[in-house]
Formats: sequence, structure tokens, C-alpha cells
Amino acid sequence: MRLKDLDQNELQNLVSDWGEKPFHGRQIYAALFKRGVSTVEEMTDLPLRLRERLTAFEPLDLLKCSEMQSSPDGATKALFRLHDDLTIESVHIPEKEHATLCVSTQVGCPLACTFCATGKIGFKRNLTSGEIIDQVVQFRRLRTEPFLRNIVFMGMGEPLLNYDNLIKAIRVLSSSNGPALSQRRMTVSTAGVVPGIKQLANEGLNVKLAISLNAPVDDLRTQLMPINKKYPIDEVIEAAVFFQKINGYRITFEYTLMHGVNDKPEMIKALKTWLVRVPCKLNLIPINPIDKRKRKAPDWDAVFNRFYEVFQKERITLTLRRSRGSEIMAACGQLAGKIG
Ligand code: SF4
Repeated sequence: MRLKDLDQNELQNLVSDWGEKPFHGRQIYAALFKRGVSTVEEMTDLPLRLRERLTAFEPLDLLKCSEMQSSPDGATKALFRLHDDLTIESVHIPEKEHATLCVSTQVGCPLACTFCATGKIGFKRNLTSGEIIDQVVQFRRLRTEPFLRNIVFMGMGEPLLNYDNLIKAIRVLSSSNGPALSQRRMTVSTAGVVPGIKQLANEGLNVKLAISLNAPVDDLRTQLMPINKKYPIDEVIEAAVFFQKINGYRITFEYTLMHGVNDKPEMIKALKTWLVRVPCKLNLIPINPIDKRKRKAPDWDAVFNRFYEVFQKERITLTLRRSRGSEIMAACGQLAGKIG
């Protein structure tokens, strides 16, 4: 058992079982998640006897930062080593007044999207809730400025295939006695795991949803994202409609642009027929090649104009997002659990 895998109730129960007052559980929780301490010694508000007992749970940190790399655009990628020697990555993206952390939820990923470096390494295991949270806790120590405000579950792995740990992590991260991050500033990104989207809609959380769509026709989408065989586009869009009706926020559709593949005029028209069904934003992301000989990003201006012509009359916000951190292989689809 590791303390950071426990939520506040579980920590209260733990200390109660030891014959201690439950409020000590709340103090431990605040020390771990709000103050982000790395040793029991720093929990100075606890009685000595309890601190002595807690030393059996050291080290408290579940991740060891073994390397950091920064790119000229300011993004920082951290390579974290887990207790079983597996590695994950998180990417910190600073803006002027706040920062965003892109968090991993699995070691590797079972979904094998063909344009993604994580997909190529296969699936090793799910992260525990504590390992998901610890990426945030440790980055709050590593980068105190600018204020870490946004969390995107878009790192390694498919968050909705590690559902219970994801939800537990979101609840801890947003708890007032923990990091107290706003759920409104958290985005769960999925490749289109339909049952997970519906379950998340009913979870009573206030998080946003991003769906990595990437193709508007099933044949092409299945080639790019094999999960489309199981959950084809019509089911993904239906789940998006369901989520949006319950949760109220517009859905973000991510569309990784691949020259000559999904940026042709007929593809853009087909995309529109899906997206007009749900209040949404369309985020166009020029592909970050993981193998320079293969897929290429199209010419930005030309492709944006092509999309703009088709979407301008719709109430769909169109953004062309240059993925930050591509120089250090930290951009979308480039995380592979190694640096350099
Ligand atoms: S794009 Fe996302 S879902 Fe697809 S393989 Fe990569 S990490 Fe997994």
C-alpha cells in the first residue's frame, strides 16, 4: 500500500484503524496533495508517534524524475521512473499567466494509433491514481511559476481505459484539501471509447471532453485508429452528443492534419456533416511526425483556409494549434517514455 494511492476517506480510515483520530488522515492528505511534501519529516503538524509510524511508507513520491528536457518554445518534458522501472512522460506548457500540464494515464497504450509514438510501444500497465496525481504534485514543485492551472489527460495512454484511477485522480486533484484545481480546467482526451464517454457523462464531474477524431470516414479512421473498428464514427458522435447534453460544455474534436490523407476537400465536407450534430470546437493540429519519412503536415495557411471555407457558416470554432514541444518529442503523439 502507498499513501498517495489513497484518497481522504481511505487515509482517515487507515489512521482510525491505528486508533488515531480521523482528522490526522485529513492532515496527511493535505500534506501529500496540497503542500506536496516528499518526506514524513515535513508533516510537522502530526504527533511524533504517527510520523514514526508513517516512515514505513517512505518514499512518499511514486515517481522519480530522471530527466527533464526543455524546448525553445518553453515546453518542458519530464521523464518519470516508476517503482517497477517503467517510465512515463509529462509535458509542462507555460503560457504568460498560467501553465498547462499534459498528464499520462497509462504506461504505453493498447490502442496502437498509427501516427502515435506511444501506440508503437504497446501497453505495459495502467497508472495508479497516485501515479497520475504525482505528475501534478511533482510539477508543482519543479515549476512554481507560472501558476499550474490546466490539466489535460492527453499524455501517454487512453484515460478512459483506466477509468477508476482517472476518476479518483480527478477527485483528489480538485479537492479543496488537496491541490484544489478546478475541474473546469481539466480535459479528458479520448480516442473514442464510447462506453467510457457515457460513463464519464454520468459521473457528476465538471470536466471537459476532447475526442481525437482525425478522420471523417470509417475506412480511413480505422486505418489510423484501429479502435474505430469497435466504436465507429457514428457511435462516437452519438456519445459526444450524449455527453454534451448532460455536461453542457462544447466538445473539442482533435483533428491531426496529415497531408494528402485527411485534408482533402471531400474529407472536410464529410467532417462537417458529423460535427454540425453537436456543439463543438474543432482543433486542427498539424501532425508531429514520429518518422520524418512518413506522414507530413500540410501547408498551414492553405489547409486552414480550406477548412475555414467549409466551416465559416457553422457555429463551430476552428483553431489551428501548433503543438508545443515538438523539438523535444513532447508534442501530441510523440511521447514514447524516453528522452533524446
Ligand atoms: S493517440 Fe492516444 S489513444 Fe492513440 S495510441 Fe496514442 S496515446 Fe493511445
